[in-house]
Parts: sequence; C-alpha cells; structure tokens
Amino acid sequence: MSERTIVVGAGIAGLTTALTLSNCVVLTRPGFGSSELAQGGIAAAVGEHDTPPAHAADTLAVAAGIAEDHVAATITAEAPERIRWLQDLGARFDRDADGRLALGREAGHRRRRIVHADGDATGAEVMRTLTVAVQRRADITVLEGWDLVDLLRTDDGVAGVVALDPAGSAIALAASAVVLATGGIGAAYLHTTNPPEVAGDGLAAAARAGARLADLEFVQFHPTALAVAADPLPLLTEALRGEGAVLIDDTGRRFMPDIHPRAELAPRDVVARAISARIRGGARVFLDATDAVGRAFPERFPTVWAAATGAGIDPRSEPMPVTPAEHYHMGGIATDADGRTSLPGLWAAGEVASTGLHGANRLASNSLLEGMVVGAHVATSIRSAGRSMPTTTLHAPVGAFDVTRPTGGASTDRETLWDHVGIVRDADGLTTAISRFDRPPGSDLRSRNLPLVGRLIAEAALARRESRGAHHRTDHPHPDPSMARRSFTEPAPASTAPVRLRNAA
Ligand SMILES: Cc1cc2nc3c(=O)[nH]c(=O)nc-3n(C[C@H](O)[C@H](O)[C@H](O)COP(=O)(O)OP(=O)(O)OC[C@H]3O[C@@H](n4cnc5c(N)ncnc54)[C@H](O)[C@@H]3O)c2cc1C
Repeated sequence: MSERTIVVGAGIAGLTTALTLSNCVVLTRPGFGSSELAQGGIAAAVGEHDTPPAHAADTLAVAAGIAEDHVAATITAEAPERIRWLQDLGARFDRDADGRLALGREAGHRRRRIVHADGDATGAEVMRTLTVAVQRRADITVLEGWDLVDLLRTDDGVAGVVALDPAGSAIALAASAVVLATGGIGAAYLHTTNPPEVAGDGLAAAARAGARLADLEFVQFHPTALAVAADPLPLLTEALRGEGAVLIDDTGRRFMPDIHPRAELAPRDVVARAISARIRGGARVFLDATDAVGRAFPERFPTVWAAATGAGIDPRSEPMPVTPAEHYHMGGIATDADGRTSLPGLWAAGEVASTGLHGANRLASNSLLEGMVVGAHVATSIRSAGRSMPTTTLHAPVGAFDVTRPTGGASTDRETLWDHVGIVRDADGLTTAISRFDRPPGSDLRSRNLPLVGRLIAEAALARRESRGAHHRTDHPHPDPSMARRSFTEPAPASTAPVRLRNAA
C-alpha cells in the first residue's frame, strides 16, 4: 500500500475529513462525541440580509482581540457552501412557512444565521447524515471500538498511531498521514456538557509527540446547563435566550440587564461568570422560558424538553435551575486553516485543533462549521502533501504499549480542573493545580492523559496574567493590551522506543 490516512475520531470533523478523502481508515472509540449532542445549530450567512463578512465581524468581536482574521474570513466565507453540501448529502434542516431555511439567533450574532434541525437536535441530524454517507463509501473503513493511545514517529514526522483494539490490546498501525479529530477536553472537568468519550486524548497524544499547541488557557463554560445530578449535564441551548428566555435568581429578579447592555445575550463568559458569582454566593439561578417559549416547548426544543421533564421540571410553566459547565475548548493543537500541524504527517480538525478562529471566546454555533470547513481542507492538504507509508523504524512514546482502558470511578483530577482551572482563576489555585498534576503518568488512558492535559491548561492560564474572553483571573481582572496575542507552547516530546515489530499491523 503506498498510502493510508488514519482519521482518529468520528464526529463532524473526522467524518467530513473522511468523506472528502479517499481510501482512509476512521478509528474511533465506542460511544459518541459532542457533535451528536449539538443543539443550537450551524452558523452560516445564508439569510437575505446577511453576508460572510458580517459573520466574520461577529466572530472577531466575541474573540476578544486575538482571533486570526484570515481564518475567520475563510471559514465564514465557506459556510453557505458547507450547508449546501450537507443538504446534498440528505440533511433535513428546519424551514420557515415560505420554505426557506429557518434561521435562529444566538448570543453574539447580530443577525439570524443559525441553521438548525428538528428544533434543537441539529447535531443528531448532521451526524445521521454523515454516518449514512460514510456507510455508502466502500473506500472508508471504520474501526469502531478502538482507542487512540499515542502517535508513532519517524525522523520524518508522524507515521501512524498506537491504539487499543476492541479486546484491549495495544496495536501499532502505520500510516502515511494521521488526522486527529478527537474533539475537546470536556470530560477532564467535573461539570461538563461533553460526553465522557471526549477527554483530551488527542491533545495529550499530540503533546507527547511534541506538536505545537495554542491558546490552551481559553476554555468556554456554557452558562446554562441544567443543574441536575447528571454527567454530562444536559445543555439548555443558547437559542432559548435568543428566543427571549431570561435568567432570574431565587427572588425571581432578572439580573443580566444590570451587568451587560445585551443582557442574557451578552458573550458566554460574561453570562457564565454572572451566574457562577450568584451560585458561589449561595443563590440558585434559573432560566425562565415560560413566557418566551411556553406551550410551544415540546415542538420547539424537544431535546431540552426531554431533559427537563426527565428531571421532573415542566419548562412550559416553571423556570429551570441552571449552572455553568465546561463546554468548549478554544485552545488545542495549533493548525492553519488547512489543519496542518507543526509536525509533518499530522493534521488536526475540529475541537481538538486551534486554528485561531475563536480567539479567547467562541461565537455560538461556529464550531460545527469550523469542523466541516477545516475537515474538508485537511483532505485537500493531505493529497497535496503526497506522503508515503513509512519505510524507516517507527518509534512510540515509552509505555504506549502498556496502557489499559480506564476502569471508571471518580477522578480527583476532574475536581482539580473544575476548582482551580475553572470559570474564575488566580495564581494560587493554578499553582496548586500544577503541583497536583505534576506526577508520573498512570497506566490507564485517563490517568495518563488527564494530568498532562490539566497541567498544560493550568500552565497556560498561569502565564496569561490578565483577563481576556473566557480566561478570567481574579488577581489580574482586566485585559492587558501587551498580552493581546495568541499563546503557543511546544511541549518537549516524550522519550520514545522503537516499535516492536510483533505489534505492527
Ligand atoms: C451539548 C453540546 C451542544 C453543542 N451545541 C453546538 C451547536 O449548536 N453548534 C455548534 O457549532 N457547536 C455546538 N457544540 C460544540 C460542538 O458540538 C463541538 O465542538 C463539535 O461537535 C466537535 O466536533 P469534533 O468532530 O471535533 O469532535 P466530537 O464530535 O466530540 O467527536 C470526537 C470523536 O473522537 C472520538 N475520540 C475521542 N477520543 C478518542 C480516542 N482516544 N480514541 C479514539 N477516538 C476518540 C470520539 O469518540 C468521537 O467520535 C455543542 C457541544 C455540546 C457538548
């Protein structure tokens, strides 16, 4: 075989990459990623009075001064084409009475431009569409039930992966190109809207390979997860606030108008901090959609309806208790808009990557879009790179073949991230977190990766001695103009050993 691309992850970014490539292997762990859970929709300037430059301007306004303008211009310009691509593949988006795409509005968007499906079940419809399209393609092999452990290296860059097969054996798979599309870091935090499958494994593997990483300190906390005993926490989509739902405290008082001129539609970090401050002060906070949505709830927001009624709450007639929760990582593996990383042979797309589109804060509904646009670019970029299968000795990080699947149970690392590297941070808490994470890696995937991911995020947060976007330091509460730039780090590659041939496949 002269070439074989391995795409790790089967969310929107991984499947878009695979569909745009030919002859590839998609390797993915059991369960699903965040894409399936996406509610609000996909941002695209397809409305009558909307334009990609207006979409790009809103993206940059929320990004707090450190987004890459050219990346925002490229991704927003290609958004309408990506929506058409999904429709051609069979995606059924909601339409208005005139048969045009029904467009929602979310915080930070000055226009209605959110394309959605089944009200608030956009991710499920998009993933159904992409999965069916992949199943029709004989040149795409899907290896389900496999867990990425590490990246294989040669002197010429990345040349494959070490992964646990469904039986739990670590196997080396050589490749001419590897695409990491493993999603974000949500499950590294105690409270998250992300599924447990998404725990920063791709980021950790890239760090051990010495890939350049960017903007790790910028973690978005969604203001309104349903405050119930569940993991992950059900999301109350921002589209509810877009439709006029309001945030109230225990006394029934609406507090956001006092805090920001755009009230409930202020940027997510502003709303998340306002809610978090009240909860830390001992109050409870609720999202009241009784007037804004009321009786239409079951049809308009079926996903939220199911979550709320499942918890014994009727959102037509009573406010829903809310809490912020980790939702999205703006940082990740540094890439350009084509998904190219600093390591030859390695590409990244979707939430695991950091193209600079989101800067210090992500505009709602831009991430499904980014995953699709960059995923398609990755495929083109891999073809033009023309890499062949490795012919020299493969190396893997020491210990990669001894790793096991996590057995479950509580992880204090998740608490450390939530408590000390969360919505509000300070030097003492970040230093505490770093010292807790500074220990030898464990033997299962989670205890090997979580301390590494946690340490990298905490170190980046400690180095950014200012508050910007989603990164808020109580000891440096204001933006510092001298720090108005992205942050980059290049972790030292882990020690490696030659791969034993009996494991090569
Ligand atoms: C509840 C919720 C609602 C959201 N709503 C929206 C929205 O309306 N609009 C929007 O734009 N964004 C939304 N987002 C964000 C968006 O869904 C994600 O950023 C996006 O789906 C990420 O796509 P992805 O392809 O990068 O990763 P994911 O969809 O998370 O997929 C990651 C894949 O990698 C696999 N994987 C992970 N680790 C490993 C490993 N070690 N080995 C093998 N496979 C692995 C997973 O199993 C999965 O298949 C939402 C997120 C959540 C959680």
